[in-house]
Amino acid sequence: MTKPSRSAVLAEMGLAPRWRRRASGAAAARPAAAREATPGPAAPTSAEDRDSAIQLMDWRALKRAVPACTACGLHAGRKQAVFGVGDERAEWLLVGEAPGAEEDRLGEPFVGQAGRLLDAMLAALELERGRNVYIANVLKCRPPGNRNPEPGEVAQCTPYLLRQISLIRPRLIVAMGRFAAQTLLASDATIASLRGRVHRYAGVPLIVTYHPAYLLRNLPDKAKAWADLLFARRTLAALGAQD
Ligand code: URA
Repeated sequence: MTKPSRSAVLAEMGLAPRWRRRASGAAAARPAAAREATPGPAAPTSAEDRDSAIQLMDWRALKRAVPACTACGLHAGRKQAVFGVGDERAEWLLVGEAPGAEEDRLGEPFVGQAGRLLDAMLAALELERGRNVYIANVLKCRPPGNRNPEPGEVAQCTPYLLRQISLIRPRLIVAMGRFAAQTLLASDATIASLRGRVHRYAGVPLIVTYHPAYLLRNLPDKAKAWADLLFARRTLAALGAQD
């Protein structure tokens, strides 16, 4: 497939190109590969044991555990679990809510219409999934009818995301949408009030933006999401300078 030009991508997003690329030392300054630990030998006997066992998993163990997970009711309705996709040493970690129908069918996050918008936004930043970017969801299984995730489901699934974060060691997390932002920040604040600031999750700087599916329904807010991504890029560059 031919790669769209940056101006075409910005046009697709309804945005005029009005930024210049900055030189960034962030990639060079990035710490070496994440350390992978050996999974614990014993089967977990309590929720705490389960969490601890997940936190000891390496990528292989984690990629086996997620599709086999039956910790909440969502496993019964899934075609497949959606683990996450991308560069396992990415500086950028993008976190959405939960798989939809297309993601459940294909096993990859953000592959529907919202995903195409996300890819366009990444391309405008000269990023792409799989290259310095990892994409995951708070929930690995699709809630039926795309209903909101329930607290019990989030509680069972969060350890997987936490382990992904500790293996990837991203420099920045972008929480996309109200659900991801409120869950990761344990807050009930609105997206509008959480945007434009650097928060932290699991020790990693976190920036909040709108969910791509929301942007498809609210086109004028695309410009705000673009401003958020530029803020994220500036934040990442500043973090690189501090190292
Ligand atoms: N919406 C999400 O939050 N995640 C996906 O993977 C797809 C749609």
